[in-house]
Amino acid sequence: MIIVMQHGASKEQVDHVFERITSIGLRYQAIYGEERVVIGVIGEEDLIRTLPIDAMPGVERSFPILHEFRLADREWHKEPSEVTVDGVVFGGTKVVVIAGPCAVENEAMLVETAERVQAAGASMLRGGAFKPRTSPYTFQGHGESALAYLAEARSATGLPVVTEVMDTADIELVASYADVLQVGARNMSNYSLLKKVGKLGMPVLLKRGMASTVRELLMSAEYILSNGNMKVILCERGIRTFEDGTRNTLDMSAVPAIKSMSHLPVIVDPSHATGRSAYIASMSKAAIAAGADGLMIEVHPNPEEAISDGAQSLTLDQFDQLMRELGPIAAAVGREI
Ligand code: PEP
Ligand code: MN
Repeated sequence: MIIVMQHGASKEQVDHVFERITSIGLRYQAIYGEERVVIGVIGEEDLIRTLPIDAMPGVERSFPILHEFRLADREWHKEPSEVTVDGVVFGGTKVVVIAGPCAVENEAMLVETAERVQAAGASMLRGGAFKPRTSPYTFQGHGESALAYLAEARSATGLPVVTEVMDTADIELVASYADVLQVGARNMSNYSLLKKVGKLGMPVLLKRGMASTVRELLMSAEYILSNGNMKVILCERGIRTFEDGTRNTLDMSAVPAIKSMSHLPVIVDPSHATGRSAYIASMSKAAIAAGADGLMIEVHPNPEEAISDGAQSLTLDQFDQLMRELGPIAAAVGREI
């Protein structure tokens, strides 16, 4: 940690900071500049974080040198990590495509969607059973019966399934049906949920909160990792900005930013990011070009009739067409689709 003293901080104030540092067994190195004193703290950074440095008289500011997300940090784990789900590898050469409806509406639509997206080249099926809706008066998901339909669709196709868990009380239930637990944007900062999915040990798809920084996303991932679960896949799904021409603003720069900061695989959800089916193809291509390890795309047999997120859902034919267009983009950046 680096501590910058205020301009004109007294010798007593500087000495007091030194005393507090040494009182917990750490060392320091001070630089006496013309304007101010800068103190470098040497030793375990976790320990210095236990001191209220910024509250000490004469301290202007302090900043850590090490990232707080050490298990997610690329500095400690230089090679990108792979997360494997039933033979589907996130973070390998192949760009993994997860597709399916926003919500599981019934068995027939789910199985039809699963078969068609699989034929088009998707490797995993998505579908919400517990839906985090902005309004409590809208469809909240079919719950356990939807989970059972997901399991049926998996048996019919062999596609692993990812579905959201919203509540700590539902973790065991959702985990008994799903192959990957999704923690949605609204729950990215639900630390109790993160700790529990960490303890469970099954793969987690962690979506970036709509008002969260990349650093905060990595800190949330750290909650899962530090509870013993290294199988974390990150997802950029758009953030809130002043722009209202799209549902959210897809922060494509988050992909290389996350890749430089962390070894964890990262995928992009162009559906929730844009809210418009017409923009999904270009954003999917851009995501692959930016280095994303996968895509999560909402697809519905009849978007006009969808119970939720129809405007951003591709038809089965549109998805098929998109998958064909993605191949050359993936090849251009040394990947496969
Ligand atoms: C979803 O993927 O079903 C979803 C609700 O997305 P988000 O959490 O990103 O809003
Ligand atoms: Mn949706």
